[in-house]
Amino acid sequence: MAEYQDDNIFAKILRDELPATRVFEDDDTLVFMDIMPRADGHCLVIPKTPCRNVLDASPEQLASVMNTVQKVSKAVMKGLDAEGVTIQQFNEAPGGQEVFHLHFHILPRRQGDVLRPPGQMGDLDQIAAVADKIRKALD
Ligand code: AMP
Repeated sequence: MAEYQDDNIFAKILRDELPATRVFEDDDTLVFMDIMPRADGHCLVIPKTPCRNVLDASPEQLASVMNTVQKVSKAVMKGLDAEGVTIQQFNEAPGGQEVFHLHFHILPRRQGDVLRPPGQMGDLDQIAAVADKIRKALD
């Protein structure tokens, strides 16, 4: 497996070299909105320390990220009035991974909804408004 490269998009977001709509952070993890949301409230949970994906992550990285995945999943249920949550995670390009810094997708769901296709830019104002609702539900 290839080594971690610190010029990936999420490493740049962590270093504040690229903008992101941040939702939550603690000592070990950061949550920000996906700019191509497949559902309203689609956000990404990443560790603050480097690893490509589940295959090279340490138990500590996995534990802290999953803890945040659960916390933010509960917040989207409450804050966005979701009825369920889909959690997605891809490993290496053949596994569907495009950005090589470990991340979990949180996708709020409602009965009968259909995910939007990948790769479509979202409306930044709308994304910011949804992020606000998630943040309030975390308080
Ligand atoms: P994947 O590596 O396949 O799990 O997908 C990477 C995800 O990152 C996709 O859902 C993209 O929409 C998302 N993404 C790519 N660039 C950015 C960015 N600058 N800010 C937020 N999300 C991004």
